[in-house]
Amino acid sequence: MLNKSWLYNKYMKTTPTRLLRYSFIVILSVVIMLAVYRLTNLYLPNNINPLKPLFINDEPGLMTKHKIRQLKKDAESCFAVLANSDLKYQLIPDKITGESCAFQNVVMLEQSTISYGGDIVLKCPALVALVIWEKHDLQPLAIKKFGQKIIRIRHYGTYACRNVNNAKQGRRSQHAYANAIDIAGFVLADGSEISILKDWNQNTENGEFLASLHESACQRFITVLGPNYNDFHKNHFHFDHGGWSICR
Ligand SMILES: [Zn+2]
Repeated sequence: MLNKSWLYNKYMKTTPTRLLRYSFIVILSVVIMLAVYRLTNLYLPNNINPLKPLFINDEPGLMTKHKIRQLKKDAESCFAVLANSDLKYQLIPDKITGESCAFQNVVMLEQSTISYGGDIVLKCPALVALVIWEKHDLQPLAIKKFGQKIIRIRHYGTYACRNVNNAKQGRRSQHAYANAIDIAGFVLADGSEISILKDWNQNTENGEFLASLHESACQRFITVLGPNYNDFHKNHFHFDHGGWSICR
């Protein structure tokens, strides 16, 4: 009873002046929020603006990793990112590809700035992460280190209907959903090769380059595994866009 009368006095027995004051505060708050929203949208650069969509050509910023991750929840936004890019690609219809293996929101990359020795089939958000890494990490790091671009990525594929580490039992690998790529090495414009098997952990320019690449990939992909993770990865970097946030 006491509580009821306290509530009544506080909210119902309000004088007109007090009501006006409350209304004014509410309206002012809404106006301020709308102004902040509008100004944020107008003046904050895309790469640090959480309200703007992701663009592959934008220099990565504070919000880039978050925006790539958000694409997992929204296939249409992911396809829009590709549509707003200069990539050549095809959408692949969703389908079951094997026992507990499937394509869902998978895209075939036909042309990028680098040759992969064939088409790349990846889930849309993983592909977006890959091309952002390629454009904003791999190439700038190659130019900084070697004064030339990478012209080819050597890899062991993206899709494979198999378990983690090719084990007979256990959980399915992200490769089973075309959500991962295994990168084995790189070819520079002058034809020289950089190999993860041979150059990883070496005190050489190639070794330093690979260490920088590994670190940069962790800013784009959810899971990054290299030779330091286990012996299964001694000859490649595994990049995926699954559920486990790992950088090793
Ligand atoms: Zn892999």
